[in-house]
Amino acid sequence: MGAMTAPQNIVILTGAGISAESGIDTFRGGGGLWEQHRVEDVATPEAFARDPDLVLRFYDMRRAAIQTREPNAAHRALARLEREWAGQVTVVTQNVDDLHERGGSHAVIHMHGEHLNAWCTACDVRSRWTGPLIDRPPCPVCGTRALRPDIVWFGEIPYHMDAIQSALAAADLFVSIGTSGAVYPAAGFVRLARELGAATLELNLERSQGSAWFDETRLGPASAVVTAWVDALLG
Ligand SMILES: [Zn+2]
Repeated sequence: MGAMTAPQNIVILTGAGISAESGIDTFRGGGGLWEQHRVEDVATPEAFARDPDLVLRFYDMRRAAIQTREPNAAHRALARLEREWAGQVTVVTQNVDDLHERGGSHAVIHMHGEHLNAWCTACDVRSRWTGPLIDRPPCPVCGTRALRPDIVWFGEIPYHMDAIQSALAAADLFVSIGTSGAVYPAAGFVRLARELGAATLELNLERSQGSAWFDETRLGPASAVVTAWVDALLG
């Protein structure tokens, strides 16, 4: 990174690895299974069309579970960085939990949606939602019983790609935390950031499929490596 002459814009991509220490598991943690379900049975538009009760019940469980979890030291460190860093700090997360926000971050882009939103497929409005969807509650905006989890399923297009590309274009430093480097388009962000001139740093539990693309990789649990990195950056 060298000597800094101006405040740097930092874009941070986060994945499952930052929430793992808060007790949130993912598909990739369990050999393609998630709470005993296969990805294709609960996390695709086809699954929702085929068996909506199964899918709604599954996400109702997940939505209830994340509300019992707490942000960890890594989430809080990124919030501190956003507060104290002179440049812009943007978190782009693949996670659908709200632990960045509850940890204190404000500039958070959820590219794969959010557990605590319901999306009305009738009026296209997203509403904050903390309860179940299995009983087909009416949309608070239009009254239609057409709410689905506001989650980007496999086969659907991630959200906010224009905003993410703009952030990457303005980034001086791109940091990836706790991601597998296997899921596109997020896996391609490091290459895009490099092409646009950003320095790149990976913080991960183990080397990932994308490690070769980073200027530097630091290995360890997120709560340790993220906190150490932020402490060093802020001095
Ligand atoms: Zn509606």
